[in-house]
Amino acid sequence: MMPAEIGKIITDTKIKYVLAQFVDIHGVAKTKSVPARNLMDVVEKGAGFAGFAVWGLGMEPHGPDFLARGDLSTLSAVPWQPGYARIVCDGYVNDEPHPYCSRVVLKRQLARLEKRGWTLNTGLEPEFSLFSRGPDGELLPVDKSDTLDKPCYDYKGLSRASEFLEQLVESLQAVDFDVYQIDHEDANGQFEINYTYSDALTSADRFTFVRMAAGEIANKLGMVCSFMPKPASNRPGNGMHYHLSITDRDGRNLFNDDSDANGMGLSKLAYHFTAGILAHAPALCALAAPTVNSYKRLVVGGSTSGATWAPAYICYGDNNRSAMVRIPYGRLEFRLPDSGCNPYLVHAALIAAGLDGVERELDAGEPTNFNLYGKSLEEIQELGIGILPQNLDQALDALEADTLFTDAMGPEIVSEFIKVKRAEWIEYSRHVSDWELNRYAEFF
Ligand code: GLU
Ligand code: MG
Repeated sequence: MMPAEIGKIITDTKIKYVLAQFVDIHGVAKTKSVPARNLMDVVEKGAGFAGFAVWGLGMEPHGPDFLARGDLSTLSAVPWQPGYARIVCDGYVNDEPHPYCSRVVLKRQLARLEKRGWTLNTGLEPEFSLFSRGPDGELLPVDKSDTLDKPCYDYKGLSRASEFLEQLVESLQAVDFDVYQIDHEDANGQFEINYTYSDALTSADRFTFVRMAAGEIANKLGMVCSFMPKPASNRPGNGMHYHLSITDRDGRNLFNDDSDANGMGLSKLAYHFTAGILAHAPALCALAAPTVNSYKRLVVGGSTSGATWAPAYICYGDNNRSAMVRIPYGRLEFRLPDSGCNPYLVHAALIAAGLDGVERELDAGEPTNFNLYGKSLEEIQELGIGILPQNLDQALDALEADTLFTDAMGPEIVSEFIKVKRAEWIEYSRHVSDWELNRYAEFF
């Protein structure tokens, strides 16, 4: 039976279809369209999918159905697609939560926090790039005048993308995102949108919704909205910073302590959590920067604007944008993830790493309060600061070697992730690129 208040929302908002939505192991939205009158089937039983057809669900063609069971609290309109709503689903197989479903994996980690009376709050900061397609399908700048070397916060660049940005903001506001800032970022054609933080599960659901919204609104306007980590080698990439804090049942920020001797407003709990993130950074990197392209973002070196703003080294520092963890004040900003990540898996891995730091009372060491981009690799090594994996293959090695994630997140999702991503790495490695042809074709 459909609860009366849900029926009323559906009638009042003229919803004809509900998208039963979950994500594959890449974090990409998958859906079935369900006539609104059948919504409760999705909530009570689930929409059926052939799991073998979806990346990383660990299923075979002869296996049972993957049932995407709707979480009624997530039901919301799809403002850019009138008549449609979206419900976020958890994966079930044989009536059990499916250990390969990213949302299920995150919920298990959240339960560990909940046992302690804690809520992880996260503010995600998606960055993305706008393109159009040329006659042969090639990606071109949407705004041909957006060519500054230092384009960050540029008025003209922002103004000329306003049709897309306004439609995106209005769509998000219509489903209660408190969007508070939009800016032109430091690469040409690159933008960032900021909305108020929420609990980690809601944040992951929301980021998925942002990518759905941005992709479709851009498509309607004849544009391409790309969340790929590094579209151009000489410009900053698309990061997706995670601002993190933990609150208790009274809503107090347990990461904040104004008496912090380092002046960063961090509590002992926050330092231990940070230490866990630092200790497991190489393995975390595989999940936070999960594509071959991600590692072109995480490099030392410049861009046309002067900086990449992306981390290369494993350290934290006071408001330090060149460090992997920046401390704005009384919370953490984890700068490693890019916009191509699976937000459920990154949240789950952060909880696993952070709680390990808390349980073992790990020491985060001294903060790094200088510009890391200004140091040579030798200087960084002399200081004992670790370097992030340099490619996806190295990051996968680190994930494979670090048993914490298999223990905490489950062997199923971690080994499936490694399997899918190793295949991606091998395919990439075997591809002969233009760079190789240009360099070697007539070199010898
Ligand atoms: N685009 C940068 C990155 O790749 C981040 C820029 C910023 O600090 O907002 O992480
Ligand atoms: Mg940014």
